[in-house]
Amino acid sequence: MLIKSLTVRNFRNIASADFIFDPKVNIFTGNNAQGKTNLCEAVSLCLGKSFRNPKAGELLPFGQSGNEVALEICFTFDNMPDKENTITYTQKNSTFRLKFNGMEMKDAEKLYGALRYVIFIPEDLYIVKGDPSKRRDYIDFVSNMINRVHNSKLYEYNKALRQKNNILMNSREWDGAAAMMIDSWNDTIARTGVNVMCGRIRYFDMLADAANRYYGMINGANEVLGMKYESTVTDGRDFGYDDPMGLYEMYREKLRETAEKELRMKYTVVGAHRDDISFFINNMPAKDFASQGQIRSIAVALKLAEAEMICSKSDDVPVIILDDVLSELDEYRRSFIINHIDNFQIFITSCNLSDTEKFGHGKIWNVQNGKFELREG
Ligand code: ATP
Ligand code: MG
Repeated sequence: MLIKSLTVRNFRNIASADFIFDPKVNIFTGNNAQGKTNLCEAVSLCLGKSFRNPKAGELLPFGQSGNEVALEICFTFDNMPDKENTITYTQKNSTFRLKFNGMEMKDAEKLYGALRYVIFIPEDLYIVKGDPSKRRDYIDFVSNMINRVHNSKLYEYNKALRQKNNILMNSREWDGAAAMMIDSWNDTIARTGVNVMCGRIRYFDMLADAANRYYGMINGANEVLGMKYESTVTDGRDFGYDDPMGLYEMYREKLRETAEKELRMKYTVVGAHRDDISFFINNMPAKDFASQGQIRSIAVALKLAEAEMICSKSDDVPVIILDDVLSELDEYRRSFIINHIDNFQIFITSCNLSDTEKFGHGKIWNVQNGKFELREG
């Protein structure tokens, strides 16, 4: 996919802006609070979903509630480079409309699934340094992107888990009847939990290999990024998506072992909902030892790996939006990101004007108070 142009009217602090993009690198630079992230959000809205999940009415410039937000993006799909497509996003009086080539899209999620892009926002650093739920959400997001049934498997699992946890909540310790009901729920939990785990690990090695490769490119070859799926049900034993029965047996066994504990704790203490991913740099746990720049490099490497996985599964090369990715990175790493991610169209925002010094190609805009100015030369 190639984004050719964008027009923005009445969007947050951007009154009016028109862009014709470079097919490779597009940089937006300016001080804090000038409109860089707002622009990224405008692009993501046109592609089906804002990463900020704004409330109705928040997108109009302050004090202009009667006005209309209007965004228009033109792009081509890689297999039809001559056919330009247009998406318009308008919002007035809290009602939004999304049109694809003039046709109204009722389900923005469909658009989001069809258009391929990868976005890095500073909150993504929590994939590496945040709590395990961030990593589970991430791996579930990637798994579903590659295989669209993953979310429904996750839904089934969470539903079964909720039912069982309700019984646990309302039972007393050593309650025989509750124990029997729980045991029967455990079968459903193990079956659906195996589906979730297999969905996650099916493409995990591919993601980890690509992330390590990009991490090496960003950081130099003497640093190796390792990733491991840490399961609460397997006690460190090997397991694979190609042996669901073996995994089911381990799951059942672990649930039996923890039955007393969960009756005491009143929730299910092991399972796919408690699994985690560990990152290692040269075999040292990144959570404990990685520097800010290394954490950022891991998050960026993951995003580039995600983009590569999309390429392997579809005809369309995703565009990459990197919001505020360069801070905390040194010159070598910044230069790699700006100049060497050349198999994708990228959009980068940065506060740091010196980022441009080493900038070899593409287009660069300065932004001040919502006004974007293309730098000449
Ligand atoms: P940073 O480098 O700090 O990330 P940024 O350039 O990415 O800054 P943005 O997040 O794009 O900054 O926000 C720019 C400004 O837009 C902020 O001052 C914000 O308060 C303002 N803003 C947000 N929503 C609206 C709105 N609806 N109307 C007017 N201004 C808004
Ligand atoms: Mg920002």
